[in-house]
Parts: sequence; structure tokens; C-alpha cells
Amino acid sequence: MINLELPEEIKTDRANLHQLAKDLFRPIARKYDEGEHENPTEMEVLRQFNVPPRKKSDKKEDKPKKKPPKPEVGPSLQAVIRIEELCWGDCGLTLSWPGRGLGNAAINAVATDEQLERFGGKWAAMAITEPESGSDTGSISTTAELDGDEWVLNGEKIFVTAGDRCEAVVVWATIDKDAGKAGIKSFVVEKGTPGFKLDHLEHKLGIRASDTAAFVFNNCRIPKDNILGSAEVKEKKSTAGFKGVMKTFDNTRPSVAAQGVGIARAALEFTKEQMEESGAKLDYGKSPNNLSSQEKDYYMMEAHLEASRLLVWKAAWMADNGERNSLEASMSKAKAGRYATLITQKCCELLGPLGWSKKHLPEKWMRDSKIVDIYEGTGQIQHLIVARQFLGLNSSQLK
Ligand SMILES: Cc1cc2nc3c(=O)[nH]c(=O)nc-3n(C[C@H](O)[C@H](O)[C@H](O)COP(=O)(O)OP(=O)(O)OC[C@H]3O[C@@H](n4cnc5c(N)ncnc54)[C@H](O)[C@@H]3O)c2cc1C
Repeated sequence: MINLELPEEIKTDRANLHQLAKDLFRPIARKYDEGEHENPTEMEVLRQFNVPPRKKSDKKEDKPKKKPPKPEVGPSLQAVIRIEELCWGDCGLTLSWPGRGLGNAAINAVATDEQLERFGGKWAAMAITEPESGSDTGSISTTAELDGDEWVLNGEKIFVTAGDRCEAVVVWATIDKDAGKAGIKSFVVEKGTPGFKLDHLEHKLGIRASDTAAFVFNNCRIPKDNILGSAEVKEKKSTAGFKGVMKTFDNTRPSVAAQGVGIARAALEFTKEQMEESGAKLDYGKSPNNLSSQEKDYYMMEAHLEASRLLVWKAAWMADNGERNSLEASMSKAKAGRYATLITQKCCELLGPLGWSKKHLPEKWMRDSKIVDIYEGTGQIQHLIVARQFLGLNSSQLK
């Protein structure tokens, strides 16, 4: 049973992050939307809040002897609550928090103590997508070949979030093409490594404060110890190892969904303020039969936002409590991605000229929200995952 009553310390943490989003992110949101590819140097102050990842050996020492009780709010739920607040401020800037890349999540999850020592403090992006491989991540063609004490990487990666500003990149590559998904491994490549070139930065529709890069690897040599996890290809054609890698998405998808909740909430709050300023005060006690179409639209959006948030919280709570949450993680992302897009569009519609003008942020939120339905698995892919689980079919039976 999920207890949705947040403890006092989480409420305080939420309020602090809301203040940060209001004071730091909102005032510069338009500046970096217009100044795409400019480095938001104001964000540097946030580095001091990054906590270095704990080594595995440290974790063993203070492991409690008894099984701990199920936490009401664990790190995943706290993370989605924080992300909602920050993205209420600005999603592109949230993605530009120095030192908190998607690659960091992968490093923290699987790196050895020695790797944590080398890479733990570095801002790490994640490079999976290729020109010929997007949703079907199992089809990547970047290769890593072992040559003595080094891996040699060759291939192209596109649409890498924080690819310019990061200090290292976690790159997915195959070490054995014949092995299919079983041959796919991830490697940490540090910036400045010969053969690793940033090819270009993307010009984007939304989240323009976040830099998105394309890379080329041309005989890029990295130390043998830069592989994350084992180099062993256990069983050719076995998907067990790949499924393990994909499981990291069960943790990250609710976080992406929370981005959508934050953006949509920003748009709804702005719309409500404007409606009230123009005299259309919302009266929640009014009979549904007497609502104007504007009021109906507003209440419907609020209900979808609340439903999105509850799905996000449920998926995160399950992760905190060691419960398998692939289904709920995909549901939360499918719902929040779709409704963040629909809500921000509808808000622009209800706001009329205010929604279209660059003087205000709703038109930007409409552009920013669409990304929630694209990265970390598109809406269609989330629906596919949900359908497979309900129907008991695997990925080769339902494509
Ligand atoms: C701003 C931005 C930042 C990004 N950041 C990163 C990053 O940091 N790292 C990274 O690796 N990638 C990143 N990506 C890439 C992103 O994850 C991919 O764009 C996404 O996975 C979709 O892949 P694709 O664009 O190649 O689309 P495709 O896979 O070519 O799909 C095209 C369309 O077909 C649909 N489709 C595909 N397969 C199916 C199917 N089986 N059934 C039904 N519909 C299907 C898709 O839903 C989509 O609508 C980023 C993308 C953007 C736009």
C-alpha cells in the first residue's frame, strides 16, 4: 500500500527545490531558449550540491543486519518529486545541471570501486542512439574491439544530451556482432581521447538550453578497464545481459515522466492565474452541468496531470521498495509524455495571444514538452512494452 503523505523533510526539500527553480531557472529560461548552445554558466553554482557516489566497499561496511522496513519515500520517489519542481522551472536547464548526466546513473549503478574513483566525479552523458538505430537499441552498430590492453571504438552516435558540456560519455557498442544483443556493452570514454570527435550540435525545437551533440569514433582507443560490467558474452543470442542493461530504464523512465509533469504543471498554473485575472475564477464546487467549456477543459487537464503524477510516484515507489516496475515505469512515461504535450498545447489555446507570444513562457513549454514523448523510448514504444506485459508476449512476438 502506498502512503502518499510526504514526510516533513521531503516537503521541505520540495519547497527548497521549488524556490531554486523559481529564483535560478525561471529568470534565465528565455535567455537560453534564445541563446541555444550558449553555456548556462549560472548553473555552475549547483555543482556543490552533487554528492559523490558511494563505493561498493563502503556500502558493505554499513549494511544493516536486519532487513530494513519498506521506506515510505526512498531515493527514486524523492528524485521524481525533485525533477518535477526543477522542470516546473525549466526542463532544458534541469538537464544542464553540471555533473548529473544520464551516464552518471549508469556509472553509479554498475561501476567498480576503481572506476568510481576515476569517473565518479565526472559529468557523464549517455550515447546509445545512432543514425540507423533509435527505438531498436539492440541494432546498434558502433563496435568495440579488444586490442591488447585497449578497446578500439568505431562508429557514430547522435542526439547525445549534454554531449558538449559533459566530461565523459558512456557509449554503447557491440563487441560481437554475431551475438546480437548479448554482444552489446557500455564503455566510458573521456573527453579529449584521440579518435573521439564532437561532430556537431543539434538545433532543436525545444529544451534548447540543453546541448545535444553528435559524435564520431574513429579508431578511438580507451583502456581495457573502461568497460562497465563484464566483457564476457555469456551465450550467443542470449538477451539476458541486454535485458539487464535495459532495466536501468525502469529507473530513468519515471524521472523523464516527472519532467513532463513539471512542464505541464507550469503551463496549467500560468493558465489558471490568467483565467482568474480575467475574472474567470475557478469554482470547484460548481455542478459539472454548469461548467463553461473553458472550465471543463481546465478541470480535465488537472485530472490528467494528477493521474500522470500518481503513475510516476507509483513507479518510483516500487523501485524504492525493490518491486519490479517495468510496466508502471512505461505506463508513467506513456501517460506523462502524451499529456504533457496535450496540456501545454491546450493551455496555449486557452490563453489566446498570451499563449502564442514570446513575451511569456507557455509557447516555450509547448515546445519543451514534446521531448518527454521522444527520448528514453517514445510513447509508441512505451505502449508496446505495456501491451507485451498485459498480453504475456515477448519482443519477438509483438514488434
Ligand atoms: C533532444 C533529444 C535528446 C536525446 N538525448 C539522447 C541521449 O542522451 N542519448 C541517446 O542515446 N539518445 C538520445 N536521444 C535519442 C532518442 O532516445 C531517440 O530519438 C528515440 O529513442 C527514438 O529514436 P529515433 O529518433 O531513431 O526514432 P525511430 O526509432 O526511428 O522511430 C520513429 C517513429 O517510429 C515509431 N516506432 C519505432 N518503432 C516502433 C514500433 N516497433 N512500433 C510502433 N512505433 C514504432 C517511434 O515511436 C517514432 O514515432 C535524444 C533525442 C532527442 C530528440
